[in-house]
Amino acid sequence: MRARVRQACERSGRSVEEVTIVAVAKTFGPEDVMRMAAAGLTLFGENRVQEARQKIPLCSGSLEWHLVGHLQRNKVRDAVRLFSMVHSADSVRLLEALEGACAAAGKTLPVCLEVNVSGESSKQGLKPEEVPTVLDRCGGLRNVEVVGLMTIPPFAPEPEAARPFYRRLRELREAWRAGSGFPLEHLSIGMSNDFEVAVEEGATLVRLGTVLFGPRGRRARQRGPG
Ligand SMILES: *Cc1c(COP(=O)(O)O)cnc(C)c1O
Repeated sequence: MRARVRQACERSGRSVEEVTIVAVAKTFGPEDVMRMAAAGLTLFGENRVQEARQKIPLCSGSLEWHLVGHLQRNKVRDAVRLFSMVHSADSVRLLEALEGACAAAGKTLPVCLEVNVSGESSKQGLKPEEVPTVLDRCGGLRNVEVVGLMTIPPFAPEPEAARPFYRRLRELREAWRAGSGFPLEHLSIGMSNDFEVAVEEGATLVRLGTVLFGPRGRRARQRGPG
């Protein structure tokens, strides 16, 4: 996967150091994580706090974990304890709850705002027009640092179908960066099916499950991403 990321970087004139793989381990066990760690991966992703709470203590070594799925406010304390980044902050109330939990734990937490670029009603995430106000409110947070943006495109078999959504997020980023003073250096875009397109459009974090771990099995697939 490194090689495919490198080739996508070369095509788009980017440096491979700019792109980090988050190995999304949802539905896979600690032994699968340890196998990936032995192959050189150190950053793992989970989409559910409950699953992460059971799995992470069983994974030895100095691994880092990111939350990539929707976070409920009643799970922020666990999330702050388990994860070094949250990709999926999607409301001011959640950001404020994270701020409180971080302050209590004496931690700072980098987060990305999840943006529903496609406007699909089934998707989590902030509406693009809500983001400037949210960024404004984030200016007051001390322990939560907004470092970027995340989106999930509509499901489509062809990787190119994702490109307009990733490109739109990058364009919105330029505008919001200028308006807010937040550098928004991270774009968490790209999954197994479309990560090369995402790298070409500026991804700094690609969230890869299936291409690393294999298919997730029927029950997990029905639940879907997020
Ligand atoms: C499961 C998941 C991924 C990984 O999906 P793949 O298509 O298997 O690479 C990425 N992001 C989120 C939010 C997920 O829930």
